[in-house]
Amino acid sequence: METLVSFGGWIALALAGLVILWTVLVRTQLLTAEHLFGTRALPDPPAVSGLAKELHKRLVVADIHADTLIWRRDLLRRSTLGHFDFPRMADGGVALQGFLVVTEAPREVIGGGLTDKSDRLTALGVFDQWPARAITRQVDRALYLGSKLERHCARSQGRIRMIRRSGDLSELLNRRAGGEDVRGVYLGLEGADGTNYDPRNFQRLFEAGFRMSELCHYTDTPFAASSSGHSLGGLTPLGRDAVKMMDELGMVVDLAHASPRTIEDVLAIAARPPLVTHTGSASCHDDPKCLPDSLLREVVARGGIVGLGFVPDYVGGTETDAVMRALDHLVRVVGPEGVALGSGFCALPLPIAVNHFPLITEALLVRGYDEAATTRIMGGNAVRYLLSALPA
Ligand SMILES: [Zn+2]
Repeated sequence: METLVSFGGWIALALAGLVILWTVLVRTQLLTAEHLFGTRALPDPPAVSGLAKELHKRLVVADIHADTLIWRRDLLRRSTLGHFDFPRMADGGVALQGFLVVTEAPREVIGGGLTDKSDRLTALGVFDQWPARAITRQVDRALYLGSKLERHCARSQGRIRMIRRSGDLSELLNRRAGGEDVRGVYLGLEGADGTNYDPRNFQRLFEAGFRMSELCHYTDTPFAASSSGHSLGGLTPLGRDAVKMMDELGMVVDLAHASPRTIEDVLAIAARPPLVTHTGSASCHDDPKCLPDSLLREVVARGGIVGLGFVPDYVGGTETDAVMRALDHLVRVVGPEGVALGSGFCALPLPIAVNHFPLITEALLVRGYDEAATTRIMGGNAVRYLLSALPA
């Protein structure tokens, strides 16, 4: 009996030791879920031509879709993981980055007719030792993941600024024009699980700095039908309440992942010009998440913008060339005044990281785009859109 107790004691001690080791590794970010399941940093990009370098320096470059906040990582430090951190943002000459907070990640994400409601982020949150409330409750998860951005800004000594209102963005542009080394970031919600499908929760999200939200992700939701979902229906009555609530608060409906009918329904009632943070043209690459050209044109005709996602689902390949072909195609469909960059940093393997953005400027010049069109695509459209859509 005595041997058995001491054996059990040793097991308990070993387990306690493992928990302490795991805690130390996660808290010091030496071993996090991103090391196990995330992407590795890409090699530094080759130098671009003098002409591209000179133009890129003068542009206000913006990307409207990074998923980086799901990971436990200090974004003020250069990392060997993912596609984004603030030192690499500076290297890439990027002025403004939009972050979309993901609060669920089902196993099935490819193709259409999806109904899988599983959530791999819960296990990720346990491994990365999120606060218990962020593991168990979707609204708290969104608030917790979003609050990381605020903390990064607070520690940046004013160099990284949270954009909540159009005035914040104007101020950022003025400071940059005056030669200050400052960059902007803002928050949105990917999918809508983070609202727990109660439109009143948009109020809490708005107060926490969220300025846009999708209505669905890979599957149909109580708000709306997804482009990858089962019904291919439209906005539900509760979804209409959600859009109304967002309009009242000053939040933008992000139409990424919405079914074509959902998009038509939102276009009919939303007060703000439409936004699709990440998609592609279905006539370039056939995926349920890519939109028909007629709908892309309608979004832009109403003063909206369309961000191109860089993942293969949107561009049909894993090379930089595939991204550039899809970008070229999208510009031919909607014109240079409607296109933005909606990368999808840090979620899935991509050929382009934030420090590679001068390569996109160079590729546009090589493809014959003039300075005005390049300026718009690289960030001018995104900035114009946000100046008009963010609350005053
Ligand atoms: Zn997405």
